[in-house]
Amino acid sequence: EAGKYGAVGVIVRSVNLRLDDYPHTGSMSYGDTPVKNRIPAAAISTNGAELLSTALKLNPKTKFFFKQNCKQYNDVQSYNVIGEIKGSTYPNEIIVVGGHLDSWDLGDGSHDDGAGVVQSMDVLRLIKASGYKPKRTIRAVLFMNEENGLRGGNKYAEVAKSKRENHIFALESDAGGFSPRGFSFDCSTENYEQINSWRNLFKPYLIHLFEKGGSGADVGPLKKDNIVLAGLRPDSQRYFDHHHAANDTFEHVNKRELELGAATMTSLVYLFDKYGIVSSKKIKG
Ligand SMILES: [Zn+2]
Repeated sequence: EAGKYGAVGVIVRSVNLRLDDYPHTGSMSYGDTPVKNRIPAAAISTNGAELLSTALKLNPKTKFFFKQNCKQYNDVQSYNVIGEIKGSTYPNEIIVVGGHLDSWDLGDGSHDDGAGVVQSMDVLRLIKASGYKPKRTIRAVLFMNEENGLRGGNKYAEVAKSKRENHIFALESDAGGFSPRGFSFDCSTENYEQINSWRNLFKPYLIHLFEKGGSGADVGPLKKDNIVLAGLRPDSQRYFDHHHAANDTFEHVNKRELELGAATMTSLVYLFDKYGIVSSKKIKG
C-alpha cells in the first residue's frame, strides 16, 4: 500500500506486547501487486520502533538505512512424523493430536511449535501410562512445514483421503506451551452440543473455555462434514513476546504449564475415544 504512494521500503513495529530487542519475523503478502512494484519490508523490535519514532519526532528528515540478506532456498524432501495406538474396538475411527515440527529460524521454536509437538506425543504417553486401552485409534501427527506453506498438513489430509481413512476428531496444539484455558471447535451444531455436555468436567480445573471458532492450520485440511476439529487454547498473554522471534527458546517454556496443556488435551481425547462423535454413533445405531 505504501509503495503505491512512492515508498521505497516499509518498516513494521513487531507485534509483541512488551518493549524488547527481539524483532518478530513472518511473511509479507503483496496481494496482486506486480513484482516490479513490490518494496522490501522488515519488522523491527519494539525498542527499535520507539527509538525510530522518537528520532523522527526530533528530526522529521531522519534518514533510515536498512539492508536485508534473507533468501529462499530450494525445496528439500521432508516428512511428517506419525505414531499411533491402534483402537481395540473401532480401529478404523481415527483421532489425531498434532503440532508442527518446523519453526522460524531465529530461535529454536520451543513455543511455536515445539510445545505442540511434545504435548501431542505426551497424549499417547499419558494414555499408555494410565493403563487405558483406547477403543479408537489415537494418532500423534508431527506436521512438517506449517510455517512456510502448510505442506505437511495438506499432504496428511491428501493421504488420509486416498486411503479412505475415517477421522472423527483432530486436535491441534499450536498456540504456545502456556497454561491451558480450554479449546475452540470447528464442527456442526449437533457435535458441539455433545462436546458442550462435557464442559462441566473441565470446570474444576478452569480449562472450560469452550467455543466455536477456528481449530488449527495443520488439521484444517481434514475438514469435512463428519469430523470435529479443535485447537488447544492456552493463555495468550505472553505468546507474542516469543512467537517467531529469537527468544522462542527452551528456557521460556514452563514445564508445569506445558504438562497441564498435555493433560488437558488427553482428557478431551479420552472423551472422544470413549463416546465417539454424535453422527458416528448414529451410523452404528
Ligand atoms: Zn506454529
